Amino acid sequence: MDIRIHRYIPISNVEGPGKRACIWVQGCPIQCKGCGVPWTWSKDGGTSISIDELFNKIKRSVEINNIEGVTYLGGEPFEQAEGLAKLSEKIRSLGLSIMTFSGYTIEKIKSNNRSSWSKLLNLTDLLIDGPFIESKLDLSMPWKGSSNQKYHFLTDRYIELEGKLDCIPNRIEIQFDDKGEFAINGMAKHNDLERLIEGLGHLKKQQD
Ligand code: SF4
Repeated sequence: MDIRIHRYIPISNVEGPGKRACIWVQGCPIQCKGCGVPWTWSKDGGTSISIDELFNKIKRSVEINNIEGVTYLGGEPFEQAEGLAKLSEKIRSLGLSIMTFSGYTIEKIKSNNRSSWSKLLNLTDLLIDGPFIESKLDLSMPWKGSSNQKYHFLTDRYIELEGKLDCIPNRIEIQFDDKGEFAINGMAKHNDLERLIEGLGHLKKQQD
């Protein structure tokens, strides 16, 4: 079985607790106004990758980067719940944690009554749920973008963080590849990101 993804990175320090591999899935029917990743909306974009190939990449990142878990981001992970649930079983067998972002609320996920959705939910340690609402933009809490989005500690894995969330900063990171191309991970205001991208573009031109 394949999963359609927009992007995979073997390590990030800003997309959940600790060091994590991240999978941005492709396809999101929710289409929030002000979404930071509208290029992940189309179901036909991105690339298809087998569960085994993704799992091998994650295993390599455990060896090289000592990651503690994997984060699923949008697109909308629950639109590919069956594949992600199968992948999650393998990931959990390594002792890694699963964090899932969803534009659906937990109530909607539960009331959907699809077994693949329940499976993915049951394999998730930390869920951040709800659509991004532009008028509720709030970057004061870690990992999320608007104040309506909620943390759900579904297992004991990160329960100790529950009372400490306001001490964890919402950060961004910049990753450069071998060719000097850069990608920005994490949450920031559109204007700040545009300024940052412009500055990085100038820097790259000077180095070329
Ligand atoms: S749910 Fe996430 S990926 Fe989908 S439109 Fe909203 S912010 Fe974008």
